[in-house]
Amino acid sequence: MEVLDTPIKYLRGVGPQKASNLEKELNVSTFEDLAYYFPYKYIDKSKFYFTTDITSDAVAVQLKGVISNFRLEGSGHKQRLTAKFSDEKGSIELIWFQGLKWVQESIVRGKEYIIYGKPSYYQGWTIAHPEIEDPIKNQETVPVKFFPQYSTSEKLKNGKINSRTIALLQKNLWSVIKTTDISETLPKYILQKYRLMPLYDSLRNIHFPISDELLSKARSRLKFEELFYIQLNILKFKADKQEKSVGFVFKVVGENFNNFYTHYLPFALTNAQKRVVKEIRKDFLTGRQCNRLIQGDVGSGKTLVALLSMLIAVDNNFQACIMAPTEILARQHFQTIKDFVKDMPINVDILTGTSTKKERKRIHESLQDGSLNILVGTHALIEPDVVFKNLGLAVIDEQHRFGVAQRAMLYSKNSVLPPHILVMTATPIPRTLSMTLYGDLDISVIDELPPGRKPIKTIHSYDSKRLMVFKFLKDQIALGRQVYIVYPLIEESKNFDYKDLTDGYESISRAFPQPQYNVSMVHGKLRPDEKEFEMQRFIKGETQIMVATTVIEVGVNVPNASIMVIESAEKFGLSQLHQLRGRVGRGDDQSYCILMSSFKLSSDARKRLDIMCSTTDGFVIAEEDLKLRGPGDMDSTQQSGTPMQLKIADLVHDTGLLNIARGAAFDVLEVDPELSKPENEILKLRRQVIFNKEQHWSRIS
Ligand code: ADP
Ligand code: MG
Repeated sequence: MEVLDTPIKYLRGVGPQKASNLEKELNVSTFEDLAYYFPYKYIDKSKFYFTTDITSDAVAVQLKGVISNFRLEGSGHKQRLTAKFSDEKGSIELIWFQGLKWVQESIVRGKEYIIYGKPSYYQGWTIAHPEIEDPIKNQETVPVKFFPQYSTSEKLKNGKINSRTIALLQKNLWSVIKTTDISETLPKYILQKYRLMPLYDSLRNIHFPISDELLSKARSRLKFEELFYIQLNILKFKADKQEKSVGFVFKVVGENFNNFYTHYLPFALTNAQKRVVKEIRKDFLTGRQCNRLIQGDVGSGKTLVALLSMLIAVDNNFQACIMAPTEILARQHFQTIKDFVKDMPINVDILTGTSTKKERKRIHESLQDGSLNILVGTHALIEPDVVFKNLGLAVIDEQHRFGVAQRAMLYSKNSVLPPHILVMTATPIPRTLSMTLYGDLDISVIDELPPGRKPIKTIHSYDSKRLMVFKFLKDQIALGRQVYIVYPLIEESKNFDYKDLTDGYESISRAFPQPQYNVSMVHGKLRPDEKEFEMQRFIKGETQIMVATTVIEVGVNVPNASIMVIESAEKFGLSQLHQLRGRVGRGDDQSYCILMSSFKLSSDARKRLDIMCSTTDGFVIAEEDLKLRGPGDMDSTQQSGTPMQLKIADLVHDTGLLNIARGAAFDVLEVDPELSKPENEILKLRRQVIFNKEQHWSRIS
């Protein structure tokens, strides 16, 4: 067995418990996985600052001093701990929002510590959640210029695996791995052509850099490799598909489409909608399977484009389906589509995880005898027992919630040929990203909103101004409008946020008392039918206020709701804020988005809120989002729902490298499309390994 394949539990310093944690939380189960678990930054431990040297929040600092004056402030879940940190020249404040008890108990008063963190200014310099070290215990690491920092999760930290532990494990790992244990993953001719550092040296230098220069070379090599294989994969996938992808031809634009277009379409299509429908129509005629991504900002009218496309399928005697990421969204699509075609001979039905046995039976039968034309649903649609008579078109709404694997599963829903696929997304994806993520899809953009929409006014307000905000809401409700109030939900602390939400609900109910006001509440803990009931009350206008977590983030369409209040807006990523804001501005009334936050904000959070107030252009926001997030920012990547996690490359700053890597992959495939030449053997094998891993993961998640 190769050394790299050794299970991680055999590494010095890793027992069975740690091994299982590493595997579950970081997907690290072998020596190789650990070798490829890269630091996201390096700390300069060779340099100490004095508290009085701190002049900006731009750089993190390492300080040496004592910690004293612990104070608990606030109460309940808003409780925080502050302390004074003093060195020989002065002092600053330290603050913790989590693990208060642990901090208080474990820090010895009067003892000298080394702390490290990014300062921020708020009535003086403060460091939140500093890294704290005992200088005596950790002596050996002190004068290192590049001390690697690894991201971990809350759970890992609780299991005693922090960044420092991982650095230690890396040390143990690299003391047993020899040059010969690492086989090169790029062919020699590519290494030479692009002047890349060999793999072994790159891996060593990425964990324990010797100099700036070697670090930068190691980085380029590893980034290049990452981007190169992604591009190689996409280009190969695309080429293979183009060769094989015979698809149904939808010859006619028939009765249903024309009838709907002339008699039942309640408004004129925007030019962008017309253009995109034309593009889709063209795809349907080529004889190849259509795989198209429809990108359109929130409210740009994607549902209608989907419906028109589905009508073409029906006109050609095929069935169509549309799949949404949540039950709420699926029900809403179902309602919308049913209303649109209610006077036409089109049979529409809905299938979700909560459909009853009886409903399922009806759907299965009508799918198989062909009497059902359009099926709307959640991922329940891709279950193996859902069998169509002749599925011709599958639409996937809000793609970012679905993986590529699910897209592939739809392919087999027609045993003759794969159905045409349309993927709709409101997440505006910058070009660099779409090339990487969706390189195998053709792309259409609906870059125009329906006429008459007034731009949403966005306001940032502090918690202290809450009463003024409530007054504003009351005035708007008096005018007949409806309001969303959204609370953040962060995966790791569900209960915590649930409390935020219920507290919020109570205070809203007090400020907006019955019988004058009625308040709905929707959150992830409700059963689907309860959610649906609350949604319906709001849609029908029986309640004026909808208190919710981000379950309403995507797709929900209630045109009379014209105000979106986002609580703790600083906790949301930019793209999420944009999605939430997109829930309003759908009717004729002036709409508002109010971003509530505490007064104390990190500079990044402030920037996000500023961007939200200054633009409603989803593409601008997406670009800014990528810039702000930067490389290796795992947590916010997960929050924003970007489906791809790059280990080291960064799609904003590495565009140049991305283009070079794409060019290199293109050149390889042009000369050797099957990767069958001996010098490309490495590529073929490596690609297989990477591809298998991806499939494995998409099946699990
Ligand atoms: P999204 O692209 O976010 O999915 P929807 O399809 O939900 O947007 O459409 C948003 C709203 O705009 C819906 O109420 C829809 O009926 C309406 N709409 C769609 N197209 C047009 C149009 N061409 N003119 C006017 N309103 C439109
Ligand atoms: Mg939509």
